[in-house]
Amino acid sequence: MRPQMLTLLRESRGYSGAQLAKLTGIPQPTLSRIENGLASVDDDRLKLIADALDYPVEAFDWTDPVYGFGSAAFYHRKQQSLPQTALRRIQAEVNLTRMRLERLMRSIEVGTEYELPHLVVEEFGSPAEVARAVRASWRMPMGPIRDIAAALELAGVLVVRFPFESPKISAISVENVGAYPALIILNSSMPADRERFTLAHELGHLVMHTTLAEVDEAEREADAFASEFLMPAAEIRTQLKGITLERAAQLKPVWKVSMGALIRRARDLGVIDDRRYTSLNVSISQKGWRKVEPVEVDRDHPSVLAMILDIHLREHGYSVEELAQVVAMRPEEFAARFDLDLPGRDGRHLRAIK
Ligand SMILES: [Zn+2]
Repeated sequence: MRPQMLTLLRESRGYSGAQLAKLTGIPQPTLSRIENGLASVDDDRLKLIADALDYPVEAFDWTDPVYGFGSAAFYHRKQQSLPQTALRRIQAEVNLTRMRLERLMRSIEVGTEYELPHLVVEEFGSPAEVARAVRASWRMPMGPIRDIAAALELAGVLVVRFPFESPKISAISVENVGAYPALIILNSSMPADRERFTLAHELGHLVMHTTLAEVDEAEREADAFASEFLMPAAEIRTQLKGITLERAAQLKPVWKVSMGALIRRARDLGVIDDRRYTSLNVSISQKGWRKVEPVEVDRDHPSVLAMILDIHLREHGYSVEELAQVVAMRPEEFAARFDLDLPGRDGRHLRAIK
């Protein structure tokens, strides 16, 4: 048993040491000594702990590195106001997701089409110039990007969704996941337009911020990158002239960005003045659109993870239970998390992948 894994698995369930002590009947000082590597744990107690946390005992032996927020491996948006326990839970979940994906990808090679470039903003002049360079190097056609998630995956950036408990976190990026240069975990509670802006923002970090930059500056740069990546100035400027709420609602499904982002873009490009910008935003707030905007946008379709699972299930002949074992999860949780069907009562393996 690796003490660090015990801490990680406990935190992934959102339990404190005291709560785990209560659930297992193991005194908290003893648990704390075990987690700190100062006391060993016998098989009976490990079983108690594993059952309480609802993980198979094998998960406690994993030797993978564990990354913390603040390490260069992590980028995340807007977590400043999150309570420490919620943050630790998300951090644990992100580490576990990375470890699980690495295991699932071990025997599978998925080709990539493009490089994920690392570009220095100062050399290009601005984040917008960097965004244009990425679009060019990926040979993206002019106009709106149909599916950013798919484009990212062609450059080796895996995209998965996970229901983070707090809406305050949009996404977390992790670098170097198996053979892949990066993984973006999206909070699955977001509407499609916000999801797309988030993906473009995270891509900005991955491309521009190879070392930990000053946080506010890095956020501004990632937003500027995302704006140009999604809404190239040269193509969208004339369409934003004299923008109204009605016009924003028409443009939203075309560019697949929020009305708020279109109006902000109009201001940033100098197409409307600050007064007009403020009055449009007041109308948006009055209509309650700050929380939920009208007009839905099609969702992007990340597909690499589904493909990897499909290869295991269909070509390599794994059952869902066996795959669950590979990633040290209970089959029910594994199936729910990855949207798989467990064998039906009649013994047939449905193996459907959505
Ligand atoms: Zn960011």
